[in-house]
Amino acid sequence: MTSEGFFTESDRFIVSRASLLAESLVLRYFDLAPDEWTKNPYSLFTWKETAPWLRDSNVLAQTVRIGSRNNARNLKARDDIPCYGVLLQDPAILRTLLRPHKHDLWTLGLFVLTHELVHIVRFRRFEVDFYGSQEDRENEEKVVHKVTSEILSGVENTDKLLNLYESGSKF
Ligand SMILES: [Zn+2]
Repeated sequence: MTSEGFFTESDRFIVSRASLLAESLVLRYFDLAPDEWTKNPYSLFTWKETAPWLRDSNVLAQTVRIGSRNNARNLKARDDIPCYGVLLQDPAILRTLLRPHKHDLWTLGLFVLTHELVHIVRFRRFEVDFYGSQEDRENEEKVVHKVTSEILSGVENTDKLLNLYESGSKF
């Protein structure tokens, strides 16, 4: 693992594995159908797949909205359903791993991905406005953090990570 910059291939493998666990934890919490993520896939981006102007090393990750999904077979029904993605900001995540309370990438990745997937579920199913006002977004962050804490409570090694949010990490 490098201390700065891009994830290595093994880092990317770890975060993609963490995303699978995050998916199932979020499914269980919201009592969604097992095929939720198959029917409504999201994209997982790291810096490697991200245009330079979307890279922001001050936040751990963001949920991004990619626009309508063009499904040729079912264009009408699908046309207005936006696709979401999780944009992981490699350097911010790698930097966080160097803090005194060392976290491992698996645990931090699980935490960040669970948080972002909760955002996605709430955008899709709870009619949360992706383009809400600053105040709305701040309130939404609190809700998402609370839900993430509930989901991860009792999951190994995540307790300290839940304090990251209060310590000012943004995602
Ligand atoms: Zn967030």
